[in-house]
Amino acid sequence: MSRFFSEKYKDLKAYVPGEQPRDQQYIKLNTNESPFPPHPDVAEAVRQESSRLRLYSDPECTELRKILAERLGLEPDMLLMTNGSDEILNFAFMAFCDQNTPAIFPDLTYGFYPVFAQINQLPWKEIPLQPDFSIRIGDYFRAAGTVFIANPNAPTGVALSRDEIEQILRENPDHVVVVDEAYVDFGAESCLPLLRKYDNLLVVQTFSKSRSLAGGRLGFGAGSPELIRDLNTVKYSTNPYNVNRLTAAAGIACLQQDEYNRENCRVIMENRAWSVEKLKELGFEMTDSLSNFLFARHPKISGEVLYRKLKERGILIRHFTLPQISDYNRITIGTKEQMECLVRTIKEILEEKSA
Ligand code: PMP
Repeated sequence: MSRFFSEKYKDLKAYVPGEQPRDQQYIKLNTNESPFPPHPDVAEAVRQESSRLRLYSDPECTELRKILAERLGLEPDMLLMTNGSDEILNFAFMAFCDQNTPAIFPDLTYGFYPVFAQINQLPWKEIPLQPDFSIRIGDYFRAAGTVFIANPNAPTGVALSRDEIEQILRENPDHVVVVDEAYVDFGAESCLPLLRKYDNLLVVQTFSKSRSLAGGRLGFGAGSPELIRDLNTVKYSTNPYNVNRLTAAAGIACLQQDEYNRENCRVIMENRAWSVEKLKELGFEMTDSLSNFLFARHPKISGEVLYRKLKERGILIRHFTLPQISDYNRITIGTKEQMECLVRTIKEILEEKSA
């Protein structure tokens, strides 16, 4: 820390992203990216748009919002496009929390939530998950703050039903409930259909996972026009051109080929079912994941050792050092070939250990 760093950030613990190695060709199952490239039309759209880079991007993302609104059955003024969904989450912390309105979220969830609270100097409250990693919805009734729920949750993959989230919305009429649906396209129920019924709902989604655009950085928030106006006030006070031209063009091309994305999600869900079966045969215990990753532990090998041994063999998975989950690893679902290689390698590691 330099002697110039602001006092207010001296205790700030920044978010630590998963490894993005450049040195070796890993099978990369550690940051929940899609194993499939974006549709070829995306590259062509980006190439064409690059000739217009001289000009600022459209701060309203007019065309992108229009197409997305049509796809989702919403109005364009119910959408705000952002630089990844991390940005809209940060805007939501800024817009809807304050000293008397803490952020409220599970104790085990997306690690960025407490960081957003800290950087904005906001109070937050963590509610413990149940021992089976599920969320008890009653814990969020009359919550006295802005609720953030990742659904499915990360890193557990466990999802609430739309009905359960609706109960949380109903029980918090005077507070915003943010539902972070980064992983919703892999089998969980989206809360988008509730948007016209609840003015306190903000749904957050991303193009990073199910639409293969993690490196493009495109996310969005969907909510009532009033909520979106508040979030726009924050956005225009932060970074009006938050979505660059290339990414907006990529997003449009991506939506025009959404059937391709849906098919990729279907394959990932199929690979997930296959991987669950094989890993259970090897003795793993895991949550019922409805996301593009598994959250698994093995009674005979620690999470840290498995992570390290897989890395030595060229496979990256995500290990968390938090004590309550240090036995676990989060494993992104890749292609069938990648998952076959993972299962084969884990089998070797387990056999080597028992020999
Ligand atoms: N929410 C959750 C639950 C996540 O796991 C992630 C990915 N790290 C994000 C939001 C943010 O993703 P992105 O900024 O790429 O849209």
